[in-house]
This record gives sequence, C-alpha cells and structure tokens, in this order.
Amino acid sequence: MSSWIDNLAPALRARKQDNLYRQRSTLQSAQGPLVQLDGREYLNFSSNDYLGLANHPEVVSAFQQAANTQGVGSGASHLVVGHHSSHHELEVALASFVGRERALLFSGGYMANLGIIKALLGKGDLIVEDKLNHASLIDGGLSSGAELIRYRHNDIQHLRQLLEKNRLSKSSTTKNNTRKLLAVDGVFSMDGDIAPLDQLADLCQQYDMALMVDDAHGFGVLGEHGAGCAEQFALNQTQLPILMGTLGKAFGVAGAFVAGSDALIETLIQFARTYIYTTALPPACAAAAMQSLQIVQQQPQLREHLKHLIRYFRQGLEQAGFALSTSLTPIQPLIVGDSEQALALSQHLFDAGILVTAIRPPTVPVGTARLRITLTAAHSFSQLDQLLEALKVASDNTGAIVRAGQA
Ligand SMILES: *Cc1c(COP(=O)(O)O)cnc(C)c1O
Repeated sequence: MSSWIDNLAPALRARKQDNLYRQRSTLQSAQGPLVQLDGREYLNFSSNDYLGLANHPEVVSAFQQAANTQGVGSGASHLVVGHHSSHHELEVALASFVGRERALLFSGGYMANLGIIKALLGKGDLIVEDKLNHASLIDGGLSSGAELIRYRHNDIQHLRQLLEKNRLSKSSTTKNNTRKLLAVDGVFSMDGDIAPLDQLADLCQQYDMALMVDDAHGFGVLGEHGAGCAEQFALNQTQLPILMGTLGKAFGVAGAFVAGSDALIETLIQFARTYIYTTALPPACAAAAMQSLQIVQQQPQLREHLKHLIRYFRQGLEQAGFALSTSLTPIQPLIVGDSEQALALSQHLFDAGILVTAIRPPTVPVGTARLRITLTAAHSFSQLDQLLEALKVASDNTGAIVRAGQA
C-alpha cells in the first residue's frame, strides 16, 4: 500500500491548474536594478532592496572585513557563545537610532514576529490584527494560543466595533489580567500603503492594548532620518512599545530586530523561543548592517531620489491611464484581479526583459492578483521610462488591464 508521502502530486497539479504554482528563477548576479537571471539580463522591479544597499561597495567591504576577523559562522546561539561584539554594537546603535532603550537582533523578521508574540501572549490573551498583515504576524498570533481577531484593512471604525464587542463580552468575567496586543504592518507589503499608526496608538491607549509594529518595509525608507514609521508618526516608546524592523530589505543585509524597553528585551531574551533556539546571525551580517545604518543616516539623498522616482512613476502611470493605487511608498501595486491575467502580464514584461512579479492568492486576497512593482534608490528615471513603456505595451497586448481612455 502506498503511503501519503508517495501521493503529493495531486495537490501540486491542482495548484498548477489554479495558476497558483510558484517557481524559482536563479539569480546569477548581485541584487540590483540590472540582474542576470537564468542566463539573461533583466531590468529588475521586484526586489525589496529599497536603498540599493545589498550590493553597495561600502556594505560589501564592511562584510568582508568582519569576515576576515570574526569568521563566517557565529558558531552558536546568542545565549551560548554566539553573541559577538558586532551583534552587540549593532543592537546599541539600532536602539539609539529608533529612540528606544534597547534592541535585540533576530536572524529574520519571520522569526522575530513568531518569537515576540509567543513570548508575550498565551491562552486567554487577545491579539488584534489587520486582515492584510504579513503572514508572520498572523502565524505568530495563531501559534501564541491567544484569541485572534482581525479587522478590515486600515478600517479604524471596524476595529473600534470589534474592540467594543470584545469589551462587552468580557465584562462579566472581570478578566482584568488579559494581555491585549494590536499587531500591524507599518507599510503593507503587497499594497504599499501605510497603517494609520497615530490613530491606532490612540485606540491602544483607550483599550489598554500594547501596540506592535512590523516596520519591514518602512525602516530605512520612511521618516526624515530613515528611522521608519515610528519616526514618521513621532511615536515614542510609550505609544509604540514594540517596534520590529528587518535588515534584509532597505538595509540590504539579513536579520531583524525588535526595539523597546529594557524589560521587553530582557523578557524576549528569556522567553522568545525563536531567539533562544537558533544560531545567531553571522557576525559579519551585523557589521554590514552597521555600515548600512551609517549610509542611511549620512546619505538622505538616497531617500530623496527614491521619493522623486515614486512621484515620477505615479505621474507616468496616471498619464498612461492606469488606475493609481494609494501607495506613496516604493511598493507600487497594479491590481489586475485575475491570477492568470496577472501572470500573463508578468510574463509579457519578462519577455521584454523586465522583472515584475505577479503576486497571487494566498499571498493576497482572492480576486486581487497584481503586479507588485518595487522601486529602489538605485533605479534611474530612464529605467522607469522603460518600465512605463513596457507596461503600456503589455496591457495593450494582453488586454489584462484596460486603461482609462481605451476601448
Ligand atoms: C519580509 C517581511 C517579514 C519577514 O522578514 P524576513 O527578515 O525576511 O524574515 C516580516 N514582515 C513583513 C511585513 C515583511 O515584509
């Protein structure tokens, strides 16, 4: 008799049939605006390398120098003997940058979210999340055992209703020791829009909830100094006690951190299982991220250029008759709807030498398949012209997006 493990093919066939099958391409160059992929050069609008630091000579050199003196592997978890001086220096610098007492490094954002939420909440607690939150926040909420409620995307009124309902239903049981956490993406990864963090912080105060923000796409990009959403909304440690950011996107390296009070960080060191039971990030990554931090702080022109590119691109889209999203961040989605059509558009661009990923369910809600275009400070205006031209041709040829002013 054949075992279930010999019968995985039907689910794969179904996924292909639904146009939801995922495939990897192999990158043969460094990350950047121009990449070598499967033997051909492409203009790349798919990475999260928002400041172009993943292959920045100073960041590469910091990584090399650290590898020369500290080696490649960290060799152990942070609590055993893997906590190197470059980890420690980066934690101190990140905490100061975001205006928090302390920071703690994790080996990735997914691990950080899982570890933070599970360390803080358990059965009998409550976690509240935006419906479009990143999978890692949702998974953290589910695995914590706390009651998970989700409000409609950026819908403060709906959130307030749910909180009122929850308060009424809990009042008879006088459960005053329930821990309540509102966890939200700062910038939504597939839409590029920003959570109304000022309003969310107010609601948190009103309902005795702690606010946690995942700033994976805002850190390094938003705020006058690039310190992200917390800076943009001027939220201090009391208003936003749990601030998580990643180092693999705008910072161009790998890893993540959480910043907050001394007591929060100590709690995570003691209880966050994804911090405790894993090998520390290579110390050279911490050293490279330290160099990225210097660049973020000393080169505001990168963020300025990025802003100009975003404005230019959106004007171009509008002039060509495309429906604009509300996003003012480097993530610029073009909603197509149907997965097959999104794939066709992406394939059309690919054939023209332009890399734009089609994002399909379950990454985004059913019926909202899209092209997720990301801009970086390493792009030029003429590269945007190429993209705009190719988008027009692709939409005309596939009929996938009907633009204003067209039959
Ligand atoms: C990318 C991302 C993560 C995961 O971070 P990694 O460091 O890549 O594991 C978490 N949250 C959001 C919103 C993200 O976009």
